[in-house]
Amino acid sequence: MTRPGTSASSTSPGRPEAIDDSRVHDVVVVGGGPSGAACAYWLADAGWDVVVVEKKHFPRVKTCGDGLTPRAVRQLNDLGLSGALAGAHRYDGLRACAYGMSLEMPWPDHPSFPSVGYVITRHDLDQIVAERAAKAGAIVWEGAEAIGPILDRATAGHVGGAGTSAEVLPSCAGANVLDRDAGRHHEVRARYTVVADGANSRFGRALGTSRDRDYPLGMALRGYFRSPRHDEPFIESHLDIRDASGTVVPGYGWVFPLGDGRVNAGVGLLSIEGRWKGANTTQLMDAFIDWAPASWGLSKTSLCGPPTGGKLPMGLSVRPRIGPNVLAIGDAAGSINPFNGEGIAYGYETGRLAAACVGRALSGEGVHALVDYESQLQDAYGLYYRMAREFVRLISRPELMKVCVSTGMHSRSIMEWLLRIMANLVRPEEIGPAEAAYRALCTIGRLTPG
Ligand SMILES: Cc1cc2nc3c(=O)[nH]c(=O)nc-3n(C[C@H](O)[C@H](O)[C@H](O)COP(=O)(O)OP(=O)(O)OC[C@H]3O[C@@H](n4cnc5c(N)ncnc54)[C@H](O)[C@@H]3O)c2cc1C
Repeated sequence: MTRPGTSASSTSPGRPEAIDDSRVHDVVVVGGGPSGAACAYWLADAGWDVVVVEKKHFPRVKTCGDGLTPRAVRQLNDLGLSGALAGAHRYDGLRACAYGMSLEMPWPDHPSFPSVGYVITRHDLDQIVAERAAKAGAIVWEGAEAIGPILDRATAGHVGGAGTSAEVLPSCAGANVLDRDAGRHHEVRARYTVVADGANSRFGRALGTSRDRDYPLGMALRGYFRSPRHDEPFIESHLDIRDASGTVVPGYGWVFPLGDGRVNAGVGLLSIEGRWKGANTTQLMDAFIDWAPASWGLSKTSLCGPPTGGKLPMGLSVRPRIGPNVLAIGDAAGSINPFNGEGIAYGYETGRLAAACVGRALSGEGVHALVDYESQLQDAYGLYYRMAREFVRLISRPELMKVCVSTGMHSRSIMEWLLRIMANLVRPEEIGPAEAAYRALCTIGRLTPG
């Protein structure tokens, strides 16, 4: 096992001293967002020599709703960051609003997850996690853009058990990196490469990943607004957002209080089978801002800067996710939860799973451990995401969406089950109504081909 010799432990701008072009690191992680930083932390914590190349400098803005659910909080606690969240806005649950009704639902209890969430800007959060990885011994190289993989035909290997060769990535010996501060190119070589470069994933695409267009895709737009209700103990979701013609669309509008005088408000829309693909999220956002309860104070004058948006690849829609010495995680693997558009927790979780598998591979198990990463993804999310995709298919029909939402909003217990299922907080050992409903759906899912 190669121990980190001269780890830089630095998140300050520039090129860390420990970057040495002749050195072959254990792992290079491309991207220092939630998935890359978490993966780097777990690898460094286990003693591996890991370098993260991140094209921006922290703190940096990242377009997001900034909402952390109990799943994300659990991962941050495990990273040793519970104290670092003390300054963030803590909230207790979700207020669901639709068709003139509203329901406040505290986070459900779960033996493995806390019953709290936080809202914290990605500007602040991602720096905290990248610093944690650096403190554990990872080299975090900021201002370093991976411009392409170093393809390694010499060590190209077979990935047994992972399907046909079209379903695996090629062997990769690291990344060609542009030092954006110095304007110079470098080769960062490593025995294993982890692709964590987010939803656009140009590095992943260059290796051969692509998104399955039969899967749903989220599109979302958000802005920051000054608001008198900035420190509310509930985040709010509006389940009946409408397009310009007044048709209810599949998605939701949100208002997430940040506790610092501002709220993060935005709209997310789901597109599947080509439906809603052409919908204009800017118009949806304008309509939502006009229509959200006036007490939030959302308007063009309280807006703190132009809204920005992005895509949400979901349901494990991006493949292949493994190669003989390469793995994809987070948005680069399409790991967002289609039920609710949550991706931060799944970035942390897939980063952690990948770190464990790469660690085993480095310890001598080789490619089998990487194949196991794919199996573990399927065990953790396969059936759940399949249910979620069917749910999205259902609600992408306006008439069904309306029936589902308005029926649900008349029953607190149905909405509480739904919250438990959609936030992926179903208890494995207990049979409450949500668990019973979910298990019944899973049984149908298992019996249904495709
Ligand atoms: C509008 C919007 C709202 C959202 N709201 C929420 C929410 O409230 N809660 C939630 O859980 N999720 C939310 N999501 C999803 C969430 O933002 C993503 O799932 C999450 O950021 C994925 O983390 P990641 O590490 O995989 O990718 P990213 O966060 O995108 O990180 C990728 C990193 O890689 C770097 N990078 C990219 N290319 C390169 C390269 N070539 N070389 C070096 N570095 C590179 C980038 O600079 C970036 O730092 C939202 C998404 C959008 C678009």
